Amino acid sequence: MPKLSGKCLCGNIKFNGDTEIKLMANCHCSDCRAATGAAYGTLLFVDEDAIQVTGSPKVFNHKAESGASMEKLFCPDCGSQLFGRNSNRPKTLSIRAGVLDQDSLVKPSVNVFLDSKIDSTPIDPDLKGFPKMPG
Ligand SMILES: [Zn+2]
Ligand SMILES: [Zn+2]
Repeated sequence: MPKLSGKCLCGNIKFNGDTEIKLMANCHCSDCRAATGAAYGTLLFVDEDAIQVTGSPKVFNHKAESGASMEKLFCPDCGSQLFGRNSNRPKTLSIRAGVLDQDSLVKPSVNVFLDSKIDSTPIDPDLKGFPKMPG
């Protein structure tokens, strides 16, 4: 199983764990865009129990378009976003790809929420694409 680790910009929040990446997606939804400040977010979905977090991320709660309760976990000192939770996917943690130490593991397999992507964002035609979140 791959070893995953990472940290926020200031280093006050760190994480590590050995676990399979269940899915990796580029998410073009407007919530990811606003939350990350980037044109889209790349997310790794892993088993929450496999990841140990040190430090105390702050939690922001909001509702997704689907009605799910969403949590964004970020460093209160430097503002880096690290993790997310979705009430429709219990025990699953999403990790923002940009905070991962293992760059070589970042290989998204799908693009989701293409309906709300920014026109200028390039899309890899070899990846599966979905207008919203499938499933
Ligand atoms: Zn920080
Ligand atoms: Zn999103």
